[in-house]
Amino acid sequence: MEDSKFSLESKLKAMNPEEREKVVEEIKKKAIQDCIFCKILRGEIPAKKVFESEDVLSFLDINPVNPGHTLVIPKKHYLFITQIPDGELSALMSVVKKIAGVVLDATKAEGITISQLNGKAAGQIVPHVHFHIIPRYENDKMDNHWPTQKLDDEQFNNIQRKIIELVKKLYEPKENTEEKVEDEDEEYEFKPRLP
Ligand SMILES: [Zn+2]
Repeated sequence: MEDSKFSLESKLKAMNPEEREKVVEEIKKKAIQDCIFCKILRGEIPAKKVFESEDVLSFLDINPVNPGHTLVIPKKHYLFITQIPDGELSALMSVVKKIAGVVLDATKAEGITISQLNGKAAGQIVPHVHFHIIPRYENDKMDNHWPTQKLDDEQFNNIQRKIIELVKKLYEPKENTEEKVEDEDEEYEFKPRLP
């Protein structure tokens, strides 16, 4: 699996931009065709819908942790939350907040977990951005435990430095760094963004 992914990335890297764009478009098209949430959006699979707007759909999770476990998805197919333009994400988050409140009222739950997973390593199964809104109760079966690690000061400082460097670049005025930003955009655009 990793090998084939690696070779796909190598192949894409070797292509000229037009070829690459064409192949990436084909891969995206196939992903959208196969995506279970896009199938729900196209009406090919039924779902217990609770809210729909022009850009957002919300429906009950078919495998709920607790009754009322609801999903909120953008209608556009994105793999990772990092791919969603800010404006679209704001609209999506506004729905997440409202549905969370409604689910809390409807279920009289004691708490709500809002979960959004990016990547297989994080536990993402459906490759279409989605927020889980999960009603929670004391002593329900869902595991609240996060395994934590002890880092020494150097380890904290290293990762802090790396993150700060990238955050600074992200917010730097573009006119001073035009060339640099262009290079990085290529890198970022290319890397993990296949659907
Ligand atoms: Zn999709």
